[in-house]
Amino acid sequence: MIELAPEQEVILSAVREIAQKKLKPRAAEIDESAEFPWDTVKIFSENGIMAPFLPEKYGGIGMEYLIFSMILEEISKCCASSALILIAQGDGIMPVLYGGNDELKERFLPGLTKGKLIAFAATEPGAGSDILSMKTKAVRKGENYILNGQKCFITNGAIADVITVYAYTDPDKGPKGISAFLVEKGSEGLVYGKNEKKMGMRGCPNSELFFEDLVVPEKNRIGEEGKGFYNMMAALDTSRMFSASQAVGLAQGAIDEATEYAKQRVQFGRSISEFQAIQFMIADMVAATEAARLLTYQAARHLDKKRKHQISRFCSMAKFFASDTAMKVTTDAVQVLGGYGYMKDFPVERMMRDAKLIQIYTGTNQIMRVVAGREILKK
Ligand SMILES: Cc1cc2nc3c(=O)[nH]c(=O)nc-3n(C[C@H](O)[C@H](O)[C@H](O)COP(=O)(O)OP(=O)(O)OC[C@H]3O[C@@H](n4cnc5c(N)ncnc54)[C@H](O)[C@@H]3O)c2cc1C
Repeated sequence: MIELAPEQEVILSAVREIAQKKLKPRAAEIDESAEFPWDTVKIFSENGIMAPFLPEKYGGIGMEYLIFSMILEEISKCCASSALILIAQGDGIMPVLYGGNDELKERFLPGLTKGKLIAFAATEPGAGSDILSMKTKAVRKGENYILNGQKCFITNGAIADVITVYAYTDPDKGPKGISAFLVEKGSEGLVYGKNEKKMGMRGCPNSELFFEDLVVPEKNRIGEEGKGFYNMMAALDTSRMFSASQAVGLAQGAIDEATEYAKQRVQFGRSISEFQAIQFMIADMVAATEAARLLTYQAARHLDKKRKHQISRFCSMAKFFASDTAMKVTTDAVQVLGGYGYMKDFPVERMMRDAKLIQIYTGTNQIMRVVAGREILKK
């Protein structure tokens, strides 16, 4: 296992305690009510973990991604929806951190460590995996852009203070014609559509957004015009490592529940943990999760070391491997608990529903294999 510095151990054990004592008891209720847990945002802000990877001047502590990955894991063990708050925050922040100028960073980033929320808006009804087919356009008018279009499924889109939005500034240029903007809540022309009813990760809303002649000042453009697609790809690499960490945590949480249950449950006069069928299932669950964890840490390390030839492939591989593992492990955890696993009285049922999303968002696992395969075979 990876050796951590003493101060990193302190941070991690503080997060573990918060997750176990404050987040775990709320997880079922958040799932049931599908209400956004503002109390969790307060806990995260007060404990400095909304975006700790940001440099100090922007409100973070310059935390390594590896440690942030472990934080996401600890939180996901207890409540994946709570981890999603941090992931969605990271998704919105990355484009600004990687592509924004100092003025933009100073204006927006510090508030995002103290309770303000940001969302990441790329997906449209006709543009999911095929993101270049997006229709949203930003047309320059003097010192502003006029935004028209629509986004969908945007995590925390309906409640965010600011939204990173991707739009074509020059549709004829394909990927070189996309730019990124920060759209502020309250902007005239920002219209909220429906919030989706979802299978899992029900603590965070997913919303339709419409832009109707919305005026965005030029100073809210993230980076140069036409650099939006490259900015999006860099942000998504990091985001995929975050999702992988969430998947590892979910899988570990399900293993913890399943092993505890197996030791207690008696059938045929003995603990079911004595049956080889259960032992084999648990052994497979643990082996796969340990492998997913190491791959995820490796992806985080590549990000920390800025190894640009490794980042995309490792973040994609970690994302698909860890989320496929989480799906299998949580499903098997339900199996270990038998009929009780299928009931909402036990958390494995929620974990299984939560795990499914990680195979889909921040790029489906099919697309992750396309990205990794291309990177590996690149000449
Ligand atoms: C709960 C939730 C939260 C989300 N949050 C956000 C968010 O905050 N911001 C945001 O911008 N987006 C968000 N998304 C959108 C998400 O990233 C997309 O749903 C995802 O990228 C897939 O796009 P799609 O749903 O249009 O599926 P499609 O692209 O239509 O894919 C349908 C199926 O076809 C497969 N497929 C498509 N193309 C290929 C190919 N070339 N090769 C092989 N298989 C292929 C896919 O893998 C999938 O199985 C969210 C989605 C969900 C469900």
